[in-house]
Amino acid sequence: MTEHLSLTGRIDGKRDDLIALTQELVRIPTLNPPGDNYREVCEYLRARLEARGFSCELIRAHGTPGDSEKYPRWNIVARYEGKRAGDCVHFNSHTDVVEVGAGWTTDPFGGELKDGKIYGRGTCDMKGGLAASIIAVEAFIEQHPDFAGAIEISGTADEETGGYGGVAYLAEQGLYKNVQHVIIPEPLQKDRICLGHRGVWWAEIETHGEIAHGSMPFLGDCAVRHMGAVLHEMEESLFPALAQKTTSMPVVPLGARSSTMNINSLHGGQSEPEADFTGLPSACVPDYAKMIIDRRYLMEENKAEVEDEIRAVLEKVAGARENFRYELNEIWSVEPTMASKDAPVVTSVAKAIGDVLGKEAEYVVSPGTYDQKHIDRIGKLKNCIAYGPGLLELAHKPDEYVGVDDMLDSAKVMALVLVDLLLDPEQVTPAQ
Ligand SMILES: [Zn+2]
Repeated sequence: MTEHLSLTGRIDGKRDDLIALTQELVRIPTLNPPGDNYREVCEYLRARLEARGFSCELIRAHGTPGDSEKYPRWNIVARYEGKRAGDCVHFNSHTDVVEVGAGWTTDPFGGELKDGKIYGRGTCDMKGGLAASIIAVEAFIEQHPDFAGAIEISGTADEETGGYGGVAYLAEQGLYKNVQHVIIPEPLQKDRICLGHRGVWWAEIETHGEIAHGSMPFLGDCAVRHMGAVLHEMEESLFPALAQKTTSMPVVPLGARSSTMNINSLHGGQSEPEADFTGLPSACVPDYAKMIIDRRYLMEENKAEVEDEIRAVLEKVAGARENFRYELNEIWSVEPTMASKDAPVVTSVAKAIGDVLGKEAEYVVSPGTYDQKHIDRIGKLKNCIAYGPGLLELAHKPDEYVGVDDMLDSAKVMALVLVDLLLDPEQVTPAQ
């Protein structure tokens, strides 16, 4: 095992570099929305990686949602060529982070190091994963400059808002045509391989009524009461039915191993007045109500069934209520995706987890979607997983952190994956 020991020892030697890299990434506040500082984070990565022999391309996703002169959607793709022909291994990390929110006891963009953890927005999701992948790749190249194939590291925009200005755009440009293996270092935990994610179906439901004076509601028709009937029917029949649906997908946490639906928002009647308005509302029967639903579905379901199920709820209410009128419109959808356990990148990461952590890898599926969807559907590449340090439960939370030891361990796993995928067996020193 001398080969593995010297490579992992090299990564241990980069501990301070890994900490500084993570801190510097966190100190570039790439909040999305609106999409701040994408150019800055790309320039930062370019400076580091070009100095180490990567060729870097900065790509703006012109015309994608949110892209503007004020908030351009910049992405970076860094590539390092091996000495001979071979596979390309691509590490993709999103550079955007979500809003800070309340409840922090540390500076969200300070990158403070305390008790072996680095704190800040995006440490866990997923600048820690990005930093770990960079350290892994740099260590591998130093150790084996004569590897075959190529290694790419991308830092992409907008994952938190659908990935259209990031991975989707790059996939449309053909970036994944010559890539064979993709690892997305999202915070799924250093001993887990995330094979994919559930599907998403977002829709809006509208109910209609008739406006009238609020003192004589019988002269109008209350759209909010109609929506209340929809909610009631969902409670009676839909939610219990969803809870009964189970899946062979190894989704974690367990609560997400069945179908779920969130009611994202509900609006009806007069809109909220301006904050400085001091008057009373007027007396009106609401003629319009709108609900946005967020349905997450399983490999065993399909989008048409999911939509039919909601329509059946609305039709049942329509059959029971006079003058019930509704509209149902899809807003956004994503199909479920899941790599095979036999896919080369999966077996390689599983082996490396065994070597580094001395335990068997756990296979999981994410309850929520991430950029794997675009690599699968647009990039046509199934050999893609999420694997990276950090605890998913900390993502988007106050006092988000990533553990330094976890980053080092996952960097070792990623480096051994490169040994497995990009070195000929005779280049690897056999076990002593
Ligand atoms: Zn993420």
